Amino acid sequence: MNKIKKYYILIPIITAILSLIVIVSTALDTNLINKSYSIFTEDMNSNNVSTVVVNSSPKMTIILNNGDKYYTDNPHTDTLVEKLLLKGIEVKNENTPPLTKSIPSGIFVLSIISIMAMLLYKVKGKNSVTSIEMQDFSKDQKNALDFNAVAGNEEAKESLMDIVDFLKNPEKYQKYGARMPKGVILYGDPGTGKTLLAKAVAGEAGVPFYALSGSDFVQVYVGVGAARVRNLFKKAKTQGKAVIFIDEIDAIGKARSNGKNGSSNDEKDQTLNALLTEMSGFGQDDGIVVIAATNRLDMLDKALLRPGRFDRHIEVSLPDVNAREKILSLHFKNKPHENIDIKELAKKTVYFSGAKLESLVNESAILAAKENSTSITSAQIDAAYSITLAGHEKKERSYLKEEDKLLTSYHEAGHGLVNMLLLPNDKVSKITIIPTTKGAGGYTLTIPEDKSYHRIDYLKNKIKVSLGGRAAEEIIFGKDKISTGAHGDLSQTTDIALKMISEYGMGDTLGLIKLSSVGSLYSSYGNPVIEECKNLVNELYKETLELLNENKSSLEKIALELLDKETLYEDELKMII
Ligand code: ADP
Ligand code: ZN
Repeated sequence: MNKIKKYYILIPIITAILSLIVIVSTALDTNLINKSYSIFTEDMNSNNVSTVVVNSSPKMTIILNNGDKYYTDNPHTDTLVEKLLLKGIEVKNENTPPLTKSIPSGIFVLSIISIMAMLLYKVKGKNSVTSIEMQDFSKDQKNALDFNAVAGNEEAKESLMDIVDFLKNPEKYQKYGARMPKGVILYGDPGTGKTLLAKAVAGEAGVPFYALSGSDFVQVYVGVGAARVRNLFKKAKTQGKAVIFIDEIDAIGKARSNGKNGSSNDEKDQTLNALLTEMSGFGQDDGIVVIAATNRLDMLDKALLRPGRFDRHIEVSLPDVNAREKILSLHFKNKPHENIDIKELAKKTVYFSGAKLESLVNESAILAAKENSTSITSAQIDAAYSITLAGHEKKERSYLKEEDKLLTSYHEAGHGLVNMLLLPNDKVSKITIIPTTKGAGGYTLTIPEDKSYHRIDYLKNKIKVSLGGRAAEEIIFGKDKISTGAHGDLSQTTDIALKMISEYGMGDTLGLIKLSSVGSLYSSYGNPVIEECKNLVNELYKETLELLNENKSSLEKIALELLDKETLYEDELKMII
């Protein structure tokens, strides 16, 4: 349908071209030579003239007996016409241009107007509905997703199954006076399958799917977001039943009094209000369900969560080991593979989201295709694993100086050694000094233990592992030779330390108070919390230095081996210590 519409614009273009051809050819026809009035009088006197065409223009057309035509000046005297008539010359009065001229120019003007109108409409349409992705599952069964496309997430699927049933059999619920949920919020980490679930609801129920992202609403002029919301609902309503999906709902529905982002924002408020108005506008038997997704439920404006709005909240969490196995199996299903221990791979991919697992499988398939192997091999999966976690290896690395490689070797050896000594359950699977295209000079891959909570000593050790790189640099090269290589590590360190003190009730400044729940008062606590963070990290850094000094010979062995082989795996590392 949209395809046909796209070609509508060809019609005025064709008519414009055709009318232009006609106009030009008639213009060429009338593009006669201009002759002087004296020549005309000569012709007239020698009875050569058959017809004279006059109009309001300063020129008149002369047609000779032999068919030749030319222009000449029209003196606009009444006597001329009389003279001509007396000489038996026909006089044609053409005060309006002939139809042969006015019709094509009329068509031309109309065509140009319609082309402009269509282009304008298209641009406007783009602005207002560009990101409304419409998938009409009721008609297009081919693209329909169902719950089989979502592995794991069993609780979420079960909860959404109700919505599907509501959409399919509204009468059943009406009989009992049950109210269909108008809005559902799916919340959880990115890539956990929220979009996939929303699409599956539409697919299972066989209704159209409209998707829009909250970020499409912001950064535009005031009022545009609200208009887009109304537009979206209007479109959905014309379809009868529908699933409307709003990704990143927090972009418009972030709590207004949320310290950091408390500044009022007209555009956001208007958009949010439009959304709430639209949602209360449709009745429960309209068969429209709005599914919204966010990474953080606690960030949302309470107005959104009230009954009659988004009153169903469904968590979509990171997959556990069983769910990971199912997701991996699902994505390996249509790809040639053999001798792959999917169970083992599921164990190795702790904290991977569904999207990351999908990308891991895809990277391995790309490698298999590049290497023309008959099926995906374990080695390709290992390579893909590193790619998904750390990025692609840099192929061109002749520019690397030996002294930089030595620095990286000690830095990574520091991470690896502290990890092996303090967190033996988080296995170090690989240490490498091959830089990645993501900008890392090298990296240490660990497979963390699968746990739903962490103890304080684990968090402290995790910080020490992060600091291990910088500590090794300081021990070997001295305090005045430390590098920027610890840049990324320090983000992780700060993040954990800050959370320990401000969110997990593990510090002194706040005790068991959670900073994010304090609201707008929180700013007065900012500095003391950072102060405590700094002291904690400094203390842990000292301990890391001590630990590495005690194990300096192991550190040197690992670093030199790394410098030589560039990459060390778990078994080789165990041999060294
Ligand atoms: P979100 O909306 O939560 O950010 P998506 O639904 O966009 O995540 O997921 C991105 C991709 O990751 C999906 O298209 C799919 O290929 C894969 N994926 C995520 N979760 C799952 C899952 N539970 N089962 C199968 N594939 C998944
Ligand atoms: Zn590091």
